[in-house]
Amino acid sequence: MNPHVRLFIPGPGDVEPDVLAAMAQPVQRHYGPEWMAMYGETRTLLQQIFGTANQLFIVPGPASAALEMAMGSLLPIGSKVIVGQNGFFGDRLADLAVAHGLTVVPVTAPIGQRLDPDVLRGVCDAHPDASVVAFVHHETGTTVLNPVQELAAVARAAGRVVVVDAVSSMGGAELSVDHWGIDVCVAAPNKCLEGPAGMAFISVGPRAWDLIDSHAGIGAGWYLNLRTWRRYADEWGAWHPTPVTASSNTLLGILTSLRAIMEVGLSVHIAKYAKAGRAVRDGLGKMGFVPFVPEAFGAPMVTAFHARPEFAVGEFATWLLDERHIAISGGLGDLSGKIFRVGHLGRAASAEYISDLLEAVGAFLRQRGLGGEPPRSGKLQARNKK
Ligand SMILES: *Cc1c(COP(=O)(O)O)cnc(C)c1O
Repeated sequence: MNPHVRLFIPGPGDVEPDVLAAMAQPVQRHYGPEWMAMYGETRTLLQQIFGTANQLFIVPGPASAALEMAMGSLLPIGSKVIVGQNGFFGDRLADLAVAHGLTVVPVTAPIGQRLDPDVLRGVCDAHPDASVVAFVHHETGTTVLNPVQELAAVARAAGRVVVVDAVSSMGGAELSVDHWGIDVCVAAPNKCLEGPAGMAFISVGPRAWDLIDSHAGIGAGWYLNLRTWRRYADEWGAWHPTPVTASSNTLLGILTSLRAIMEVGLSVHIAKYAKAGRAVRDGLGKMGFVPFVPEAFGAPMVTAFHARPEFAVGEFATWLLDERHIAISGGLGDLSGKIFRVGHLGRAASAEYISDLLEAVGAFLRQRGLGGEPPRSGKLQARNKK
């Protein structure tokens, strides 16, 4: 077998051994009492983590499938939607909208900056006929955390339905769906919820359902149509809650991780990310790397740094992979070659992973003749311990 490549990418992250063990259980039916017990518990834990009493669906597929459900189901073809675009995943929201025949009214911010609630207010005023506002919480492309609570408040005050892509923030940063007035929220297991990829989560509130019920939904497809999921929940919810086959192995992996998070407590889990983010930002900062986003609104779960003039991002990433079996990530789109991103999701948020990463980066710099003091890992570990 190839050596285990440790994941320091913006997702997925390495998961705990008990999650892997749960996934190796025999295959089970995706209906019936055993399934309902594990599906029901998973959904309840997710509602707690989302902070919502809204209906929540667990959808086999990537996170983009649930984002597609939101964009495809809420509005009829030809409608306008306001989309926050300050990076790769905001652009994806816009692409999804266009693919569903919607007209996008963008709210932009310079790359590396946050979306501005005042700008959103102006766009809402100028487009009273756009009934949905969609944006990303953690823009994983740049590692900017957008001010979700303020943006949602502006959109709500303007009477809009609020859609939030919380795929990479859920479980890693504060987010309170009902409290903050988020009508549709999308998350995934394989980022800060520390489970395997393969399912997506979407919560849908009453204002979103009213909008969905205001039109016939022609063109929304069948599988990724929220109407289909609601019909199965209504009619088969007691024994077969999803319209399709779902993987019991994936669900058990996710459930195992969610239980562990709720056992230590969500706020402790979130605090772990803040600490990990700070350790990486400080550690690489001391070695001369410059963070791409100021700490004030930089994400705790992924940290981006500017490329350095002495070497290409690609050479650096290749060396870490070949010599240390550590995978980091480059920039997406226009940021390719200009930044690199270090994820501290899952096990990469641990003191052990982070000190190994810092040690490896120091070794790279030294063999390039760039100094790079060996990190005082003992100290770092002490700081990272609970
Ligand atoms: C990872 C990510 C996605 C896409 O997830 P897929 O599972 O690849 O579809 C969407 N939005 C954000 C903010 C992400 O970080």
